[in-house]
Amino acid sequence: MRKREELAWAAGFFDGEGSFHAHASKRHAAATGYQREYWSVQASVGNTDKELLDRFYAYVGVGRIKGPYIEQRGNRLPVYRWSASGHMAVQFLGAMLWPWLGTYKRERWEASLRAYRIHRQPTAVELKRSQEECVNGHPLVGPNVRIDTRGFRVCKTCARDNARASYARRMGQPIPERTPAWTAKVT
Ligand SMILES: [Zn+2]
Repeated sequence: MRKREELAWAAGFFDGEGSFHAHASKRHAAATGYQREYWSVQASVGNTDKELLDRFYAYVGVGRIKGPYIEQRGNRLPVYRWSASGHMAVQFLGAMLWPWLGTYKRERWEASLRAYRIHRQPTAVELKRSQEECVNGHPLVGPNVRIDTRGFRVCKTCARDNARASYARRMGQPIPERTPAWTAKVT
């Protein structure tokens, strides 16, 4: 159970030393091999005093501490860094510390999450849910759709074609043609 005083301390510490940011990095996409921008959103706070970061981490309960690093600027003392990545972690942290955060940090929190939401790539599941047609060009709307146990839309026409094809294969008959892509949308 997080205590109010602990969260107030954590918020004061983060308000002074921490930051919220969204940024892009270029990586190779596993599926295509092409370079792609991956956006991420992060909360982080650095300090030369690891005990302060340990305390912060114990109070907020998310993220992790890495380091020490020797930074090129400043006094060059070893710096430790606490950080938490991802939309959920950043949203959670901001909500938890909100009552004690100053206006500037609140604005940075909102701006970082907004930038992340605008730029991030849709996930494979989101792409699947936003498709208008099945792989064979049948519309994924109206009476042609069945919802499977995972909540994904299934093309009934393809399901019927597949059943016919497997029946024909079993019977040693010629495989029937697929139903062509529909030209008219079902409403
Ligand atoms: Zn289909």
